Amino acid sequence: MERTLVTGGAGFLGSHLCDALLNEGHEVICVDNLITGNMDNIAHIQSDRFHFVKQDISQPFTVAGSLDNIVNLASPASPVDYYAHPVETLKVGSFGTYNTLELAREKGAVFFMASTSEVYGDPLEHPQKETYWGNVNPIGPRSVYDEPKRFSEALTMAYHRTHGVDTRIVRIFNTYGPRMAINDGRAIPNFLYQALKGEDLTVYGDGSQTRSFCYVSDLIEGMVRLLKSGHSDPVNIGNPIEMTLLEMAEKILQVTGSRSKIVFKPLPEDDPKVRQPDINLARQLLGWEPKVKLEEGLRDTLDYFRKSIDTHQAEP
Ligand code: UDP
Repeated sequence: MERTLVTGGAGFLGSHLCDALLNEGHEVICVDNLITGNMDNIAHIQSDRFHFVKQDISQPFTVAGSLDNIVNLASPASPVDYYAHPVETLKVGSFGTYNTLELAREKGAVFFMASTSEVYGDPLEHPQKETYWGNVNPIGPRSVYDEPKRFSEALTMAYHRTHGVDTRIVRIFNTYGPRMAINDGRAIPNFLYQALKGEDLTVYGDGSQTRSFCYVSDLIEGMVRLLKSGHSDPVNIGNPIEMTLLEMAEKILQVTGSRSKIVFKPLPEDDPKVRQPDINLARQLLGWEPKVKLEEGLRDTLDYFRKSIDTHQAEP
């Protein structure tokens, strides 16, 4: 039985990855400091192959026993969360990645780094291939997320080259689905919440900026395949279907049947104007591509948000 540590395992993606690894028969140790992760995301897990440890990986840490894999997902990931926790985000993506790589070296474990399309910044190449070096403002507000992720990639490659650690790097593009925090400030949670509550949908800028949204089950399938692949260079995982944010707001009005209006708010500083993954490498290497249609994924997410809003309203 493989023994796998997932940092950030109580987060949106982390909790889905824990589910997938348990389904694959792994023993899973889930580490999270719960600043943006949430125990509700893992409350459904009954398996005796699952263990939770509350730990900030920015501090040196260890776990008892052997480890076959470490998947390093720990970090605030939505712009609202990393603006609220800038120093913690820089620390987890530097000290945290270092501590986790040291643990992988000590245990002889595969180290899998969750990187991001944000390493491409406001891209001048479109769509983005793994070979593109990016266009990141090193001192702008988003730098607190982008730079530690870039540093984490550099550190991962250094451990691979210098210490022979068996490493993976996934560059994750915008992902959505159940267990996203309703208040994490990202476009899909905001629009769904606003549509359900009959509030105005807040499109930033003129809504012409683009993103390409991947449903969570597709993303997790790609990550599990990459973990098994033995490939150490970065791989984009995301859905290449690109749309403007105005189109997304309209789609959400349609899926929810809401009569909310769309209003325009200022565009955040350094907000990337376009984003679309080139997934040819993932197709060739992993035989992977996304399957879930946007409407289907939005409906599942909507169901989750409806229940989540009802539960919160029911609380005293
Ligand atoms: N956005 C928006 N309205 C919102 C939240 C976000 O128009 O209520 C825009 C945001 O400016 C960006 C895009 O949606 O252009 C995606 O933002 P998100 O925070 O979901 O992810 P990002 O790709 O910026 O990390």
